[in-house]
Amino acid sequence: MASTPTLPPLLRESGQREVFCGLTSIVWLHRRMPDAFFLVVGSRTCAHLVQSAAGVMIFAEPRFGTAILGERDLAGLADANEELDRVVGDLLERRPEIRTLFLVGSCPSEVIKLDLAKAAERITTRLRGRVRVVNYSGSGIETTFTQGEDGALSALVPLLPRCDDDQLLLVGTLADGVEDRLLTLFERLGVGPVRSLPPRQSTDLPSVGAGTRLLMAQPFLSDTVRALERRGARRLPSPYPLGVEGSRAWMAAAAAAFAVDEARVAEVLDPLVERGRRALVPLRRQLEGKRLFLMPDSQLEIPLARFLSRECGMDLVEVGTPYLDRTLMAEELALLPDGTQLSEGQDLERQLERVRAARPDLVVCGLGLANPLEAEGIATKWSIELVFSPIHGIDQAADLAELFARPLHRRELLQWN
Ligand code: SF4
Repeated sequence: MASTPTLPPLLRESGQREVFCGLTSIVWLHRRMPDAFFLVVGSRTCAHLVQSAAGVMIFAEPRFGTAILGERDLAGLADANEELDRVVGDLLERRPEIRTLFLVGSCPSEVIKLDLAKAAERITTRLRGRVRVVNYSGSGIETTFTQGEDGALSALVPLLPRCDDDQLLLVGTLADGVEDRLLTLFERLGVGPVRSLPPRQSTDLPSVGAGTRLLMAQPFLSDTVRALERRGARRLPSPYPLGVEGSRAWMAAAAAAFAVDEARVAEVLDPLVERGRRALVPLRRQLEGKRLFLMPDSQLEIPLARFLSRECGMDLVEVGTPYLDRTLMAEELALLPDGTQLSEGQDLERQLERVRAARPDLVVCGLGLANPLEAEGIATKWSIELVFSPIHGIDQAADLAELFARPLHRRELLQWN
């Protein structure tokens, strides 16, 4: 592991923000657990948001919806709890296959202080365990984008059965194909048993206890980690499984915890590392020396910056993150190049001024900023794609680099005028 680099003071900003609220995470969570339903208790704005974020998926069999708080609820004229019970009753009658119902809090439900935790308990009791109802907040007041997943997973932690046997728990949503591949590799390494949170079926919850080692697949799960640690689990410190280097270190951390000798680790992983590095060569050619600015969005920014600078040769102008958890990011921070400017939070106009002054070659940002920056002649990469694409693991390193090389390549192709 590299020695701790010298980083300039963290730039902490607050002000106007251009980020998603935590409701957006429903879009990938509902795909991961097809037997769960996500019921947002919110306004039409919330319904519009989830609908726009989910795009065409809204027309497939929906496993999310919004109980819209009407004016009578907001004015306190209707008993919102009674209304909610009625909506949930109707929903479960129409959809008997639902096993876990997430009641997702929003800005309006929080502002009127609707106690959804109590509602979840009340409805679970009434349904006598037929459906488990859990609550978390995805509101924009409390959560940014991927923090919604942190809320959903930490709400599941109290439901996990207790077991102190040795096991590896992968924490954070992975694409199913990526997860299968990683499970095969862990098996070849002799690491196991391996379970995942979230599981593929909401009723198939992994156990947790003193023998549980946590390997974090995603960096934005601060509350979930703390909740699992309170139940006896221990986190394995490691960089995140992005890029060849991060993914190898991530798997090696698990192997070390399960006393697999290094020769075996090398035997299984080094051929993959070799192939992964070779696949990166042409992409590195496109990305090397290009100046990169990451705006805050998903908390994936620091691991991505580490990958893009160390394995693809990009220069980091600024690495923004909506929230910096120094404990969960310690191994990543140690791998950043000297002098990397980090920023936490956002004051949009000031950050845009810095973008314009630096004229980076590529800006990673949300959809709201991408086209306007393109119109100013600055190439952009939509950050939302990073949470929907299979980007984890040694085998995916080239695909991950390709996501950043593509907008630069397109720009070159279009330089005809
Ligand atoms: S939860 Fe808040 S920020 Fe998110 S869509 Fe609803 S009102 Fe908007």
